[in-house]
Amino acid sequence: MHDQALVLFSGGQDSTTCLAWALQRCARVETIGFAYGQRHAVEMACRPQVLGGLRRAFPDWAARLGDDHVLDLSLLGQISDTALTSGRAIELQANGLPNTFVPGRNLLFLGFAATVAYRRGLSVLVGGMCETDSSGYPDCRDNTLKAMQVALSLGLDTRLVVETPLMWLDKADTWRLAAQLGGPPLVELIREHTHTCYRGERGQRHPWGYGCGQCPACALRQRGWEAYAAAD
Ligand code: ZN
Repeated sequence: MHDQALVLFSGGQDSTTCLAWALQRCARVETIGFAYGQRHAVEMACRPQVLGGLRRAFPDWAARLGDDHVLDLSLLGQISDTALTSGRAIELQANGLPNTFVPGRNLLFLGFAATVAYRRGLSVLVGGMCETDSSGYPDCRDNTLKAMQVALSLGLDTRLVVETPLMWLDKADTWRLAAQLGGPPLVELIREHTHTCYRGERGQRHPWGYGCGQCPACALRQRGWEAYAAAD
């Protein structure tokens, strides 16, 4: 165990599972989050809750969990016209992508994460991007991420590895992975403290956590939870 990782940590289910994955494997783990004018900015308030919960429940991980970096990328929200960065209704666009797609978001996130990783001496970037069970966002696809790994490694003239533990998992598998990594305490922490809902709603508690229960992100999380709970 010698890798030093920077986890792209939004406060959601996927990135929290990735954080646990990194904490189990890496000698030192730092986290980075981005405020980009997201409609569900409440996820930024969930991040410290999740980090605190991990520290309390997992002393071994707490010893490896280092600094948390929060970057202001409000410029991204200003130049984007999407349902994730404004109050407009979520719908499918003519090109087949939902209008929650923020063009270039993960490319920018990885670029800024690489800048921080370089400064902090961290050689692994970990992200929760997923090709199997996503909304079809092209910047979540495996080839995109592999190309970014090459571009960042070349552009910084250093070996930077982009790890995406969830790439080929569906949402039920992601719950399963959390159970493998941290048992019931981690599953419970994810249910209670992570945020997924695109509308930013945390009023109602469902078996799978908080959210509006209607938006695509809630629907995906709910389906995954129900498949996981039925099988396990
Ligand atoms: Zn929702």
